[in-house]
Amino acid sequence: MQNHTLLRSLPKVDKFIAHQDFKNLSKPVLLPILRDALETLRNDILTKKISEINDNKLRQNILKKYHKIMTPSLQKVINATGVIVHTNLGRSPINPESFDKAKVIATSYNNLEYDLEKGKRGERYSHISTMMKALLGCEDVLVVNNNAAAVFLVLNTFARRKEVIVSRGELVEIGGSFRIPEVMKHSGAKLVEVGATNKTHLHDYEEAITERTKLLMKVHKSNYAIEGFTAEVPFGEIHVLAEHHGLIDYYDLGSGHIVDLPYGLSAKEHTLQEIMEDDPSLMSFSGDKLFGSVQAGIIVGKKELIDKLKKNQLLRMLRVDKVTLSILAEDVKSMLMDEFDSIPTLKMLFESTKTLRNNAEELAEKLGKSIEYEIVETETVIGGGSTPNRKIPSVALAVNIGKLGPNTIEKRFREHNIIGRIENGTFLLDLRTINPNEFDTIKERVACLISS
Ligand SMILES: *Cc1c(COP(=O)(O)O)cnc(C)c1O
Repeated sequence: MQNHTLLRSLPKVDKFIAHQDFKNLSKPVLLPILRDALETLRNDILTKKISEINDNKLRQNILKKYHKIMTPSLQKVINATGVIVHTNLGRSPINPESFDKAKVIATSYNNLEYDLEKGKRGERYSHISTMMKALLGCEDVLVVNNNAAAVFLVLNTFARRKEVIVSRGELVEIGGSFRIPEVMKHSGAKLVEVGATNKTHLHDYEEAITERTKLLMKVHKSNYAIEGFTAEVPFGEIHVLAEHHGLIDYYDLGSGHIVDLPYGLSAKEHTLQEIMEDDPSLMSFSGDKLFGSVQAGIIVGKKELIDKLKKNQLLRMLRVDKVTLSILAEDVKSMLMDEFDSIPTLKMLFESTKTLRNNAEELAEKLGKSIEYEIVETETVIGGGSTPNRKIPSVALAVNIGKLGPNTIEKRFREHNIIGRIENGTFLLDLRTINPNEFDTIKERVACLISS
């Protein structure tokens, strides 16, 4: 066909879009894709790249692009990495029952800032404070958007244009480039580093105190451990020193947990209640690391200081909404009732390897002969900066598909939203983080991915 004849046969937008296939689709999304496709076609005709127009193929291409845009990119994945608090996979999954209760609150009006007894304005943080005080034995509590916000708010409120003393060994960078020195700079506080990377002593803090010092801060090292010739000052001693000098002590704990950790991890990582025994002026931790609830920064400590935090205008920008408060209240209630199994993160952490092995067998049975696998004992980590460098036991299915290499297998599973891990050249599905209610989905996806 001649170029000009081809050009004339280019579909007209109005007519083309009237096709049955495009019925009920969003025009604002569809139209730009269509115009773009026609423009490309026109160019291809002019540069003689094509010699015919296939309307059907054109429609299919447009539909494919349309559906790609209209499918939410945030999707459910199956975490088969074994890393319980996986920073890239949404950290702690929320307890579905807490979520259901939050739904009732969030989808109707509620008393978020209304005092039902007095019939006037109430305080949003009141909905969580009583239960949290009972759980942790603190004087007061404040909840902000995440722990990074908590750190920022504390530093900005108490140490703007003042000095904060931190050990050099604790100037950490946490995933997503949250760096303690940077956060401190933005908060307006002046960082005073003391000690050496591997060793800091109490007298290092003491000697750095000046009349400009406002806060002694301890930061949990979270994602790394210093081993060998080391010394760090326990928070309790920092607290006593701060009190002696009329300063505020603040512990940025990162991940906080309320039950003794299994597998001997408790020797190094104290529970929130144990840390409270040191009577901190302030301490903060994430709601969705080992605490196992919703994304939040939970600040606990002295009422007088929490009151000052509440008066900082910044809080308005960092405050949490009704969904967060409602889920958090439900989860804290479960914790007060010792119903730890209803906190998904804790349930996964405490699952025995015997149960994991049974689960592996159940999954293997479901998969039948569709792929080759072997049940193996392995080790994983909790993640989320909770217990740096420490392994916990787990059980996994080591998967083989014909002659495919582990990277190819990993990619195939990933394309079906199942994220596993490769260890010693073998692709593993780690049972520590797979919920048995996901086995059927895995079975269906495996059937798909072996035929792809
Ligand atoms: C994780 C972590 C933070 C940041 O908490 P987010 O809830 O991710 O904002 C701050 N400090 C420490 C020590 C951490 O481990």
